[in-house]
Formats: sequence, C-alpha cells, structure tokens
Amino acid sequence: MKSGIRRVNRMLVPVLLAMAVAFLAVVLGNRSGRPFTVRERRIIRQSDSVMYVTVLPEDSVILRRRSAELTPAEVSSPELETLLAKMLSTVRSPKQDGVGIAAPQVGIGRRAVWVQRFDLPGEPFRCYLNPHLDSLYGEVTHGPEGCLSVPPLRGYVPRYSSVIVSYLDPSSLRTLRDTVHGYTAIIFQHECDHLDGILYIDRADTVFVSESWAAERKAYDYRRPSWYPRVR
Ligand SMILES: [Zn+2]
Repeated sequence: MKSGIRRVNRMLVPVLLAMAVAFLAVVLGNRSGRPFTVRERRIIRQSDSVMYVTVLPEDSVILRRRSAELTPAEVSSPELETLLAKMLSTVRSPKQDGVGIAAPQVGIGRRAVWVQRFDLPGEPFRCYLNPHLDSLYGEVTHGPEGCLSVPPLRGYVPRYSSVIVSYLDPSSLRTLRDTVHGYTAIIFQHECDHLDGILYIDRADTVFVSESWAAERKAYDYRRPSWYPRVR
C-alpha cells in the first residue's frame, strides 16, 4: 500500500510540473515574450477572413476596456499582419460595410485601427498602429454616426472638424504625423475612442434605432463562433 502511494507520487510530480508550466504560459500570455496573448493568437489564427465583430451588450467587457499599446515584438509579428488583413476584410465586407474598424471590435485589445481616407484620391483604407490624437480643433459639428459594435442604432455626435494624428506606420515602422479634416477626421475620433473603451453613444446628443440598418442585418448570421474564447 505505502509503496504504491510513493510510485503514484513519483508519477504525479512530472505531471504536476507540466500542468504548472502550461498554467503559467496561459496566465502570463504575452509577458512570456511571444506577441499577443494565447486568447488573442487563437482569435487571430482561427477566425475566418471576415471576423466576428464584438457587439453590445454581449461583448461589453472587451469593448469597454482600454486597449494596450502594440509592443515592438507585436508590430513585427506575423500575427499582426494576419490580424490587420482580416480586420480590413471584415470592415470592407458587404456584411459590415464600414468606414473604419478598431482592434477591440474583433476581440483584440490592442491599439490598431483601419480608417477609410475619404480625403485622399481613391478613398483608400489605411492602417494606423498606436495612433494618438495630438490635437482636435476647428468647428464642432453634430453629425450622424453608427458603429458596427452597436447595431442597429445611430446617433448625432459632436465632433471636431480637424485632428492631428501621430502613429506608427506599419510599412516603414516609422512614427508619422498627419493632419486630417472633415468626415475622415470624424472617423479618426470614433476609432481612437474605441481604443480607450469609449463608444459614440457615450458622446451622442441623441440615439435612435435605424430601421434600414436593422433590415440590412437580417440577411446575415452574426452569432459568435462556438470556439470563441471568453475574455478573462
Ligand atoms: Zn465604432
């Protein structure tokens, strides 16, 4: 009897050690030196090219959290490249048809956004890493806004007509600065708010249900994938 217990104990030690290592890997996440957390890497790897978009109220934890700066290791990682490509496919998909998207809207609490530059020829989407609005100025307008994460509402939101944004350029990996006016400046304010857990409904004068948007959404399935990891 006693020797049997000792044998079991000898077998248990390596098993417990392996479990402890696995537990630490999950808890430490990106602090282990690998880019992104285990949960984030799973979402990036396993998502379709059109990702699940987080919505209120189900995903309020991720949408209301302040996102973290991308580290140098994350900026140069293949995971970020995949994430940015999938975010772009998502915002441009007929299912979403957006003009901007922030990483928390696809479940990733990192400071990365895509913005459609209506002020540039061809109105291209451009990506901005660790963006910061250095200045907001000019006339304050109260224009209509909606958000992929807050369907099917719309609202009138006070926004500045101009912004100066500094950011890390994903191609050159240099910090750049840009001055943006008009509707595109409003998109920058909306998307950068997402990175601080702020939604347009927090700033809106009025919010109302958009019947046309609700009708458009009926054509698609918006359920969260069964494999989707919970936020810790
Ligand atoms: Zn939004």
